[in-house]
Amino acid sequence: MNKRLVNPSVTREIVNRFEFQFKKSLGQNFLIDGNILDKIVEAAELDKESGALEIGPGIGTLTQELCEEAGRVLAVEKDNRLLRVLAKTLEDYDNVHVHHADVLEADLHALFAEHFAGRKVSVVANLPYYVTTPIVMKLLEEKLPLRSIVVMVQREVADRMAAKPGGKDYGALTIAVQYYTEPSIVCRVPESSFMPAPNVESTVIKLKVRETPAVEVADERYFFHLVKASFAQRRKTLLNNLQNNLQPKLEKDALLAACERAGIEPQRRGETLSLEEYAKLATELKAALV
Ligand code: SAM
Repeated sequence: MNKRLVNPSVTREIVNRFEFQFKKSLGQNFLIDGNILDKIVEAAELDKESGALEIGPGIGTLTQELCEEAGRVLAVEKDNRLLRVLAKTLEDYDNVHVHHADVLEADLHALFAEHFAGRKVSVVANLPYYVTTPIVMKLLEEKLPLRSIVVMVQREVADRMAAKPGGKDYGALTIAVQYYTEPSIVCRVPESSFMPAPNVESTVIKLKVRETPAVEVADERYFFHLVKASFAQRRKTLLNNLQNNLQPKLEKDALLAACERAGIEPQRRGETLSLEEYAKLATELKAALV
């Protein structure tokens, strides 16, 4: 490998040479900590048969290591100023394609077909924090053929993804992430691991994509609508939230009967229900609608 870009003085030299100005609005905090980089790459468990999708390659710090470990690398970068930097820093690799796009608008199915045909793919990225949740939800909801998602995110977001029922971190994001994946925290990351240092702590989290969702539900849209409705006002009881937010509306008696059939006490709060309980409740509420 060429000089590791993760080295702070190498990063500084490239930033200066290309007269690159960091844009806070694009979440541009580049990784300069080799130990953290090694942990990210190790958690992704890549081999030469696998593909790696990186979102936001920056100057190519993580991309360089992915090119060494994976068979094919696709890096989607929104900032066109970084394209000429990446053309230079990745010039020695012929297994990488840099795609200029906002990942939220990119047709990932088409890109996967073009670049990863037949390969198992892991997403490996140091995400821009201003769009972490929409990016992760897009990756999950589009049901791409993914093996895992190993991402650097803001510490609080990682804690919400990996939360257990009953705590303040447990919410609609937890349920969506755990429906599709098994999360595990890889490591905590201090502000000093980035250039420039962000003013929040970070965490690397691994989301191992499940072969089939964690619970069986007949109607996914309704299941996620129920979850959202149950967390609409966190301090209120489940019954209150269902009365106020569930669509189509059900009479109180019908709600109580559905809770009883699902074995769920209606005075509980939404944050105490497990995925299995939400699945049961969704089935019973759906049945009450017909
Ligand atoms: N991967 C590099 C690293 O680890 O040093 C840079 C990570 S930096 C936290 C986030 C990167 O995401 C930046 O390169 C930024 O320009 C890019 N980015 C921001 N919003 C994006 C979007 N919507 N789609 C694709 N890339 C985006």
